Amino acid sequence: MKEYKISIIGAGITGITLAERFASNNSKVLIIEKRNHIGGNCYDFKDENGIIVHKYGPHIFHTSYKEVWDYLSKFTEWIPYQHKVLGFIDGKFVPIPFNLNSLYALMPLKLAEKLEEKLINNFGYNTKIPILELRKTEDKDLKFLADFIYEKVFLHYTEKQWGIKPEEIDPLVTARVPVVISHDDRYFQDKYQGIPKDGYTKMFERMLENKNIEIRLNTDFKEIRDKIKYDLLIYTGPIDEFFDYKYGKLDYRCMKIDFQILDIESYQPTAVVNYPNDYDFTRITEFKKFDVYNRSKKTTIGIEYPGNSGFKAWPLLNERNKEIFKKYWQEAKKLKKKNIYFAGRLAEYKYYNMDEAVKNSLDLFNKLLYGK
Ligand SMILES: Cc1cc2nc3c(=O)[nH]c(=O)nc-3n(C[C@H](O)[C@H](O)[C@H](O)COP(=O)(O)OP(=O)(O)OC[C@H]3O[C@@H](n4cnc5c(N)ncnc54)[C@H](O)[C@@H]3O)c2cc1C
Repeated sequence: MKEYKISIIGAGITGITLAERFASNNSKVLIIEKRNHIGGNCYDFKDENGIIVHKYGPHIFHTSYKEVWDYLSKFTEWIPYQHKVLGFIDGKFVPIPFNLNSLYALMPLKLAEKLEEKLINNFGYNTKIPILELRKTEDKDLKFLADFIYEKVFLHYTEKQWGIKPEEIDPLVTARVPVVISHDDRYFQDKYQGIPKDGYTKMFERMLENKNIEIRLNTDFKEIRDKIKYDLLIYTGPIDEFFDYKYGKLDYRCMKIDFQILDIESYQPTAVVNYPNDYDFTRITEFKKFDVYNRSKKTTIGIEYPGNSGFKAWPLLNERNKEIFKKYWQEAKKLKKKNIYFAGRLAEYKYYNMDEAVKNSLDLFNKLLYGK
């Protein structure tokens, strides 16, 4: 096999950012990817009706890192998009996270006015209050509201999302669920938000347009690890797999998505609607709603079923898995002296948003190249 300066395992946003940076700095880079496409879980494609579909669930780009926004903007234009999520609760679509608009949608007017006044007087306008704090107040109306939100918005959604019983839910997680005391329906408040104009995959293709980069798809690192030569290896696959599961397997919450093409122009009011109660699925995405320019007469939806099969979506951060990961991470750190580095959500066993994955990759590149 030809000699490369750098081998990168995995063509997700982490591997692609690192490859782009090193290749632009005149290093020869080989990317090994086991799937038949680039992009990792951010992969998207145009379907038969010209709608860009996110194969592994809806991906909304949002960041407060100017550096990350500027970097990706070299490879794409953006569709302006501010993410708003609705929850289907008691037969109505209401804003999620729960805010003052949700309050008015679900409660009789007089009661909503009273609760709004109490929320603002107690906590101030434009604040976020964790449910647990709301439950602790002496005020019985606010306690009623906290219990209502816990039951209708949080409890059953969490059961479905993580496959756990209510009593197994970490109270600390519950504590963080916010009630938003404002009328701002946006899901993210980051300064920079958007969807790549031609899709994530096209943006990645542009990042990889460099003669110094060679990509091998349909190739599992396991099958070729003894054959590749490199000065530096960056591994973005699952860390337990790299070490042959010697400390045990790390668990993930997986997901299956049922995609459907519908012969109607519009299916639901927003791109993403959560179904906290009553259904087996957690949410439905209508992909054309990410794209204000799309004029298709049809629409494509994806219905999400978290479970134990499908693709690895989220690390299951319980005590067992955290302990196992720690052991692998100790081993991983020792390999730095052999010029082997671990990066990305699977190797670091962490949920990263895309902007964090890019930021970490830019930082790792700077550290490896300039020692800073
Ligand atoms: C349902 C869902 C929705 C999300 N929505 C958002 C969102 O709205 N906004 C946001 O910012 N982030 C979102 N994310 C997070 C986003 O997907 C991650 O930030 C991103 O995928 C991280 O990229 P990565 O390169 O680290 O990992 P990955 O995308 O997982 O890429 C790793 C790559 O390594 C490859 N690989 C693994 N093992 C091997 C092997 N043995 N040999 C060769 N290749 C291998 C994999 O096939 C994969 O292509 C979402 C995630 C999920 C699951």
